[in-house]
Amino acid sequence: MLQLPSKLALCSLPVALLAVGSAFAQAQQQDFSAVQIKTHQVSGNVYYLEGQGGNVGLLIGDDGVLMIDDQFAPLSEKLQAAIKALSNKPVRMLINTHVHGDHTGGNENFGKLGIDIVAHDNVRVRLAKGVNGGAPSPAVALPVVTFGDTMSMHLNGETITIGKLPPAHTDGDSYIHFAKADVIHAGDVFRTTGYPGVDGGNGGTVKGTIDALQALVDMAGPNTKILPGHGVVSTRDDVARFRQNTIEAQRRITNLIKQGMTLEQVLAANPTADLAPKFVTTGPQPDKATTDRFLTAFYNAVKSEL
Ligand SMILES: [Zn+2]
Repeated sequence: MLQLPSKLALCSLPVALLAVGSAFAQAQQQDFSAVQIKTHQVSGNVYYLEGQGGNVGLLIGDDGVLMIDDQFAPLSEKLQAAIKALSNKPVRMLINTHVHGDHTGGNENFGKLGIDIVAHDNVRVRLAKGVNGGAPSPAVALPVVTFGDTMSMHLNGETITIGKLPPAHTDGDSYIHFAKADVIHAGDVFRTTGYPGVDGGNGGTVKGTIDALQALVDMAGPNTKILPGHGVVSTRDDVARFRQNTIEAQRRITNLIKQGMTLEQVLAANPTADLAPKFVTTGPQPDKATTDRFLTAFYNAVKSEL
């Protein structure tokens, strides 16, 4: 059994959480010791692990395990245990869908196990600098394989394409497409538990979100299973609806900005209240603080993109 540096990871947790910004501040209240990892089969040899943070995608088979995202550092041992229950093969590679700490928080732990981390070029650049003014990631937590546009992997009889999406949630968003299993991991560009998340501080844009969602729709077939960054396995139609609602939010907020409304006035008006249950189709409905964060990010992004 390989030892994970859980004590160290716990000590660095507040820094890691600060680094991903206020959207994940509530995670600081979480007691990670109480988190249980649930294993779900998506299709064929593709699974995902649900715990706290982003959905962890897995491809298992004789060649070894391919892992997508790694939640928060204190959960690394639990994730390892859940993977071992599925496969007696080692994790060979770990892909980061994007830079946020609820998807990359375990990088240091998994990197120390000798697992190669793979991500878009911008993820490595941002982790190395420190995300949102946070501490730079240590070298062992950084991707060792990076790409600019697309790359392919061939493991366990699968053809896996990892591709960059337009700057949507961040400027390093990747999709991971499993051709044989007909599954796409969409990262946080698509979620069933939240509003579209545009992190302008990490290069995210509203226009790019709409384009990225279209790209996901275009690469999916009617039966493709789409694994969101957060939430439940969905379909191409679900992504198309999420995109339409994103366009509607963009249209309304654009109009209010053109009418001269300030951010404070837009927050007070809550112009997308009826869209909230359309975006958030699983889990609790967003509270006022969550809605205000969404409107603030969207308002600022739409204004800068006019
Ligand atoms: Zn994210």
